[in-house]
Amino acid sequence: MRIADGNTRDIEMLKNAVLLSQLNLDSLREGDLLNLKEDLYDLTGSGRISDHKEEFLRRLNVKQIGTIQARFRHCFESLANGSKLVSWRIDAPIKLAFAAHSEKANEHFEYDIMAPDPVHAVGISLIFLLIRSRVTPERFRKCPECGSLFLLLRKPDKRNFYCSQKCAGRVATRNSRRGRRESIKANESLIPVRPLVQAKRAMTLTE
Ligand SMILES: [Zn+2]
Repeated sequence: MRIADGNTRDIEMLKNAVLLSQLNLDSLREGDLLNLKEDLYDLTGSGRISDHKEEFLRRLNVKQIGTIQARFRHCFESLANGSKLVSWRIDAPIKLAFAAHSEKANEHFEYDIMAPDPVHAVGISLIFLLIRSRVTPERFRKCPECGSLFLLLRKPDKRNFYCSQKCAGRVATRNSRRGRRESIKANESLIPVRPLVQAKRAMTLTE
């Protein structure tokens, strides 16, 4: 089951934020970097209140993206480790503008967050997005196989969930190999067999 309540675009943005938190920034090409900056701008709202996109993109540099990345990773990791709280502290006097607005009187509110430093605008936006998307803390996971952080889109239950089909497949293969080995061992300890018969049986089992 997919996340029922959240709107798809919010979920997509959160997924991107989780990916960004683990990205190797050094490996990015110029085009990738621009896409990344635009993704971060999209986090800060709909941009309907004032068009500050150009300024945002101009001000945002790689060092700031690194800061955003580290703080995002800290947020997502603490959620994956069982925390139910994330916060974004700013310990300096700054100018900040928040807006809630709607295109039409019967449509729900959108937000816009503007700050001179893109790091602050993005950080506060993450908190807003977490609230608006209606996801729950348990959706933030760490893959038990490869350690990657990911956003779980299925309904959580007692099962282990993996970041990808690749990791799930690797674990399934390993478990089935282990299961087979254990059943061979169990058979060997149950039935006393002469070495020749044992060797023959082992052959048929590995065929
Ligand atoms: Zn994985």
